[in-house]
Amino acid sequence: MSQAPLLRPSREEAEDAIRTLLRWAGEDPSREGLLDTPGRVVRSYEEFFAGYGEDPSSILSRTFSEVDDYDEIVLLRDIRFESHCEHHMVPIIGVAHVAYLPSKRVVGISKLARVVDAFSRRLQIQERLTAQIANTINDVLQPHGVAVILEAGHQCMTTRGVHRPGVSMVTSRMLGVFRTNSDTRRELMSMLNRPSVATAHL
Ligand SMILES: [Zn+2]
Repeated sequence: MSQAPLLRPSREEAEDAIRTLLRWAGEDPSREGLLDTPGRVVRSYEEFFAGYGEDPSSILSRTFSEVDDYDEIVLLRDIRFESHCEHHMVPIIGVAHVAYLPSKRVVGISKLARVVDAFSRRLQIQERLTAQIANTINDVLQPHGVAVILEAGHQCMTTRGVHRPGVSMVTSRMLGVFRTNSDTRRELMSMLNRPSVATAHL
């Protein structure tokens, strides 16, 4: 199904929409403390949703092929991410663990974190976010396998609705050898279960 490109509203229209929501909440948008709020909210949206302007595949396009036959798991763990749930537009905050088993090419580790950012700075559900990160790494780097595990708290569950703080949701997507080879998956899990040196010393 092809869709016409969405017409982006002007900044002024976006700020007007925030004034409408302020009135909906019971506020007076002309109150002094709220005068600059629509502008701030719209600028925050530019930051929260910057991912729509990024191409995650191109982030991974620069790779290194001279890795002296490194053929073990590369794991970047505890990558903090901030996203927003597409059902309530409230934050999803958590950590991502991203692993892959290179075949020929490796990528700078900061690029893996940037791929997480590019997809998380959009309206998301955690399941899709997990799959998008894994699929993109798989498509671009064509490694032997990719594993992505996300653990996050959803403010739509903690601050509204069922009000259950302290609950986190874990999702994972395993591709290639991480899906087919239980030894590889076990090795990944033991790497993840080790205490992190980063938080302790670095
Ligand atoms: Zn939600």
